[in-house]
Amino acid sequence: MNAATLIALQEIDTALDAIVNKRPRLAEVAAHQAATATLKTLRASIAAAEGRVAAAQAAIEAAEHASAELTKKRTRLEAQLKTVIAPREAEALMHEIATINSQRGGLDDDELAALDSLGEGEATLAALQADLPGGEAQLAAALAALNTANAGLDAEAAELSARRESSVAQLTPDELNHYQQVRAQFGGVGVARLEGSHCSGCHMDLSPAELDGVKSAPAGEVPECPQCGRILAR
Ligand SMILES: [Zn+2]
Repeated sequence: MNAATLIALQEIDTALDAIVNKRPRLAEVAAHQAATATLKTLRASIAAAEGRVAAAQAAIEAAEHASAELTKKRTRLEAQLKTVIAPREAEALMHEIATINSQRGGLDDDELAALDSLGEGEATLAALQADLPGGEAQLAAALAALNTANAGLDAEAAELSARRESSVAQLTPDELNHYQQVRAQFGGVGVARLEGSHCSGCHMDLSPAELDGVKSAPAGEVPECPQCGRILAR
């Protein structure tokens, strides 16, 4: 058994596993998520302010249109008033004109309120839009930092993978199979070291007879820890 190669392979695989675990926990991931959320909130606020501005503009237009219609009607009634002779008819027309004037007053109030709302909405929108370039720049910077961090891990992983290939090339197919089985069985760490009389995998002491068994294993065989079953490299 090529004990040194198995230990090296185990160390490489452990380091590769650590990189996989590290990726989602990078500080850059959290920073990127925070910048994304901030920008999303900002864009939602901008959309809400735009909606408020549009609603105010529509209300102003509606009030102006209704007011223009009433003015047309009043002009018609005023022309009619000049031609009537019967006082009762004139009175009825004047009453109608007064009603129109009062309705127009109500529309003017509506338009003023909508103008206020428009002014406030536009001021809010302008302030929010001013924050947008900063938010976008922050997200771009966070993404760049995340990409840099991931590229660093990619490079580490590539270097480890190259070393892994050369370690694997030094093992027989049986040794490699056995290694992969115990690695899967023990959740990633299938190779332990014999440290004095104890196994670095399960931390159990081997009896003198077990120790002799491990130490006297023939060169071609892969000794296992009699306690936990990990490959025991000497
Ligand atoms: Zn053990």
